Amino acid sequence: MKKVAIVGGGLVGLAVGYKLSLLGGYKVTIFEKESQQGMHQSGRNSGVIHCGLSYEPKSLKARLAHDGTKQMKAFCEQNNVNFDICGKVMVASDNEEVKLLEGVARKGELNGLKGLRYLTQEELKQREPFVKAQKALLVPEEGIIDYKGVMKELVRLIKEGGHDVFFNSKIEKVKELENEIVVFSNDKERSFDLLVNCAGLYSDVTYNKLTGNKRPLRIVPFRGEYMKLKPEFEHLVNHLVYPVPNPKYPFLGVHFTRMIGGTKELGPNAVFALKREGYTNKDISLSEMSDSVFYKGFHKFILKNFGFAMGEFASSLSAQSFINKAKKLIPDVELHMVEKGVAGVRAQAMDSDGALVMDFRIEKEGKQVHVLNAPSPGATSSLAIADYVIENYIN
Ligand SMILES: Cc1cc2nc3c(=O)[nH]c(=O)nc-3n(C[C@H](O)[C@H](O)[C@H](O)COP(=O)(O)OP(=O)(O)OC[C@H]3O[C@@H](n4cnc5c(N)ncnc54)[C@H](O)[C@@H]3O)c2cc1C
Repeated sequence: MKKVAIVGGGLVGLAVGYKLSLLGGYKVTIFEKESQQGMHQSGRNSGVIHCGLSYEPKSLKARLAHDGTKQMKAFCEQNNVNFDICGKVMVASDNEEVKLLEGVARKGELNGLKGLRYLTQEELKQREPFVKAQKALLVPEEGIIDYKGVMKELVRLIKEGGHDVFFNSKIEKVKELENEIVVFSNDKERSFDLLVNCAGLYSDVTYNKLTGNKRPLRIVPFRGEYMKLKPEFEHLVNHLVYPVPNPKYPFLGVHFTRMIGGTKELGPNAVFALKREGYTNKDISLSEMSDSVFYKGFHKFILKNFGFAMGEFASSLSAQSFINKAKKLIPDVELHMVEKGVAGVRAQAMDSDGALVMDFRIEKEGKQVHVLNAPSPGATSSLAIADYVIENYIN
C-alpha cells in the first residue's frame, strides 16, 4: 500500500485524492489548512464548466478541459450534484473582435467541441434579448455547476473509501529520507511514500518550503471581483454571456453568469491583489505584496501591460468603470441595477520574464509532485488533472 500525502483541499487536491482512492493500492491523506474544503479558488469562482473553447490546441488546458468536462458531468450525475448545460454565447462587439471570435471558434473545433455555431441576430434576440453583438458564437456544451457540491461529495467519497481528510492542518515542513517522506502538521509527524502539492495560491511558496529549491515561477495573485444583478433586473441575462477573450491574457473578461443557485452575476475583473487570500482591496499583506512587487518578472509584466493593469485596477476602485466593461455585452445594464457580489483570487503563475504562464504546470522533485499552475479552467479540469498527475507522476 503506497501512502500519499496531499497538501490542499481544493478541487485539484480532492480530485487527486479521490482518483487515487478509486485505484486501490493507495492510502490517501489530505491536509487542508482551513476548517473546511474549498475556501479559496475552488469555492470562489464563476461556477462555469469550460470545455476548452479558447485554449491553445494540444495544450494541457485544452486536453484536460475537454476530458474534465465529460468527467465532471458524469460525476455530478452519479452523485446528484447540480449542473446545467445551458450553453454560452461569446460576443464580438467590433470588427477586430469578430476576427478574434473566428479564431476562437477554430480553436474550439480543433479542441473537439461539438455544435459550435454563429447565431443569427434573430436567434440571439430570442436567446439573450438584451445582448448586443456584431457576431455571436453559441457554445452549446458549456454550462454551470455547483463546485461546492462537487467538493462536498469528493470529501464524502474519499472518507468512505477509508482515507483521511484533515482540516486545520497546514503543511510547511517535510523531511525527505531515502525510503519515506515525513510530513509535519500540528506537532505530529507522519510518514508517506509520496507528497502531492495542490496548494493553489501557495503552490510556489509550498514548493520552496518543501523542496528547499528556488521557485521556478511565482504565483502572482489576481483578484476577481463580482457584482450581481438585483433580483428585479435579473431578466437582463438568461444564461452565460462572455466577451471574446484577449489572447494575451488567461483571464476571460467581465462576463454575465447565471449561477447554479439562480443569481445572475457580472465579473470578474482581474486586479493585482495585495494579499494572496485577500478578497477586498483593503486586504494587504506587506510580505506577500513585496513577494510580487520585488519579483523581476512582475516589473517586466507591468511595463508591458500597464494599460491592462490600470484598466482592471480602475474597475476595482470605480463601480461605474466595472459596469462599463459589462455594458459592452449588455448596454442596458446600469449601476443602480447591481449590488456588490463576492470575490475570488486567481493563483496565476508568472515567469521571470513577466509572462503569465498560460498552461497547467506540474513538476516532480524527489518524492514530491507539485501542481504549480492550475488556474481556470482548473475547476472544470480537476478530475482530468488528477488522472494526468497520477498517470505521469505517481503510478
Ligand atoms: C475568480 C475566479 C473565477 C474562476 N472561474 C472558473 C470557472 O468558472 N470555471 C473553472 O473551471 N475554473 C474557474 N476558476 C479557476 C478554478 O477555480 C481553479 O483553477 C481551481 O479552483 C484550482 O483549484 P486548486 O485546488 O488548485 O486551488 P484552491 O481551490 O485554491 O485550493 C488550494 C487549497 O490549498 C490549501 N492550502 C494552501 N496552502 C496550504 C498548506 N501549506 N497546507 C495545507 N493546505 C494548504 C488552501 O487553503 C486551499 O484550500 C476561477 C478562479 C477564480 C479565482
